[in-house]
Amino acid sequence: MTLSLKATTPEVISFDEETLKIEWKDGVISEFALSELRRRCPCVVCRGGHGGKVGATTGNIKDAKLLSFSKVGRYAVNLVWGDYHNTGIYSFDSLRLYAQGEEGDLGIP
Ligand SMILES: [Zn+2]
Repeated sequence: MTLSLKATTPEVISFDEETLKIEWKDGVISEFALSELRRRCPCVVCRGGHGGKVGATTGNIKDAKLLSFSKVGRYAVNLVWGDYHNTGIYSFDSLRLYAQGEEGDLGIP
């Protein structure tokens, strides 16, 4: 599935205690449960090493708080979690696919 540039470019990113919200440039609004995103952290450590599966070491996390985020170029967002875990880079492509219920770097919803 090919996503348009507008579909993978955020207009506004915000978060609260439980949800990360992205308003995309194509007008779609996606809301992500923070605990789900934390469990699906795509970084190498959370996947249990190179080639490991998303959720390998984080599958049991029950809740998560977000401290802050920063954009990584035009393609991704870096999330800083309440436990100070900050190596997860979530690409906008993978977030949009996940929001649409499709398999991407964050796995199958
Ligand atoms: Zn991680």
